[in-house]
This record gives sequence, structure tokens and C-alpha cells, in this order.
Amino acid sequence: MLDWFIGALCSLIVAGAAYKKRSLSGSGFAAAFVVGTLLYATGSLAWFGTLLVFFITSTLLSKWKHRQKAAVEANYAKTGRRDAGQVIANGGLGVIMCLGHVFWPHPLWWAGFIGVMATVNADTWATEIGGLSRSQPRSIVSGRRVPAGTSGGVTRLGLAASAAGGLLIGASGWALSGGSLLPEAAAASVPGGEGAAALGILLLLGGLGGLLGSLADSWLGAVLQVMYRCPVCGRELEKSRHCDAAAVRTRGLAFMNNDTVNMLSSLLGGAVSAALYALLVG
Ligand SMILES: [Zn+2]
Repeated sequence: MLDWFIGALCSLIVAGAAYKKRSLSGSGFAAAFVVGTLLYATGSLAWFGTLLVFFITSTLLSKWKHRQKAAVEANYAKTGRRDAGQVIANGGLGVIMCLGHVFWPHPLWWAGFIGVMATVNADTWATEIGGLSRSQPRSIVSGRRVPAGTSGGVTRLGLAASAAGGLLIGASGWALSGGSLLPEAAAASVPGGEGAAALGILLLLGGLGGLLGSLADSWLGAVLQVMYRCPVCGRELEKSRHCDAAAVRTRGLAFMNNDTVNMLSSLLGGAVSAALYALLVG
């Protein structure tokens, strides 16, 4: 009962601050409060803290050099203010992993959680830092140069940022678990469960899960994500409304919006990390 109270209080403070700083919309605030409370109460400080590392670093990064990025962002669905859809796309799968672990305890849930959070963190870092790259992005599909801000466009800086974002999640998971592989005391009985070996495994899980997850995000964004054209100004868009008019779908699957792409790619990142864990630890 106390865990629910502490979780709710901490989530209220963090989500409330983000709402006040206009990083979350009203619905985003409500969703973040629920996600945070659930992770703390049903998981532990390690699960909650890992989410917090993603949430705080990505919020700060999106505020950073905001003006340079605003021009590119204006045509796309993502804005500085996250709504409930974005919060659930980023944190919902993590909550499912945590709840899975409550009902059927197994280390693979934690490994999958690290991969999921690594992917959403890698993705945000790639967008926010890679967006400042001075070299023109290349399409992940064709390898050709594409305009900055195009879905599926990758730069070397963006890829490095994405790997770094994933590695930070692995390192955070390790530090928040008291320097071990798992948040539970059971870590001691697992091969490589403690110390440097544990850090190495978690860095690999976070780095590789995050990088592959965010590459999947770029690929899905370029190939399957729905795109629209505004009938008034003629711009290509990720959102279905522009210039006060309904935009026309030009490509992609109707249900495959940015949130769906995020969710699917983090599922893949989670699967990569879980498979790595099974391979390395058993
Ligand atoms: Zn328009």
C-alpha cells in the first residue's frame, strides 16, 4: 500500500513538473501519472527509475536547441508536448513487461523491459540529437540522400546518439538494481549476476536492443507509416489535419501512425534484448 502512495506521489511531482513546463499535454500528464505509479508500485525503484531516466533525458533534449528543430518539426505529428498516445506508445509496453513479471516472475521480463526502454530512449535521442546533424540524412531504405526530417532518414550522428541512448538505459538498469543484473536479490544466483559482468551484459542489452529497435523504427517510418498531403498548402505530413482541413493519405497503412511505429519498434527492441539475455545468461 505504501508503494502505491510513494509511486503516485513521485509520479505526480515528475509529471506535474513536465506539464507545467509544457512538455506534457493534459492527457499526457494523466497517462504519465498512471504509467509511473504502476511501474513503481508493481515493479520497484529500478523499473520506475529506468523510465524516469528516459523521461527526463528526452524531455531535456527536446527543449534543447528547440528553435533550430522547430522548423523541421512543424510538418510532423510529433511536437514538444507529448499527449497520452505518445506516453502510452513509449511507456505502455514497459508497464506490460512489469505486470507480466508480477504474474509470471522471470528475468526475461526485465531484459525485455530494458530493450523496450532502450528503444524509446534511443529513438528520442536519435531524433533530438541527430536532428542537429549538419550532414544530410540518408534513407534507411534506399541509401539515397533525403531532406532533413524525412521519416527513415538516418545520419551518423543520429546513429551514435541512438546507441548512446540505449547504453544509458542499460547502465541505469544496472545502477538502479544496486550494481547487479536484476532488480531482485535473485541476481546473486545468476551467472554474471553482479559487478562488472552484470554491467557488461546490461550495456549489451541496452545498446544493441536500443540501436536495432530504433533502426526498426526508422525503417517502419519510411516504409509502412501513413503519410498525408495537405490539400491547402500541399505539404507532406504525418498528421491527418493541416491548415484546418482534412489531409489526404498518400502512402502507408492507415493504422500505422507514429505511435504504432514506436510501439512496434520497441516491441522488437525488447525481443532483441530478451533473446540476448537468454543467449548470454540462459
Ligand atoms: Zn497545410
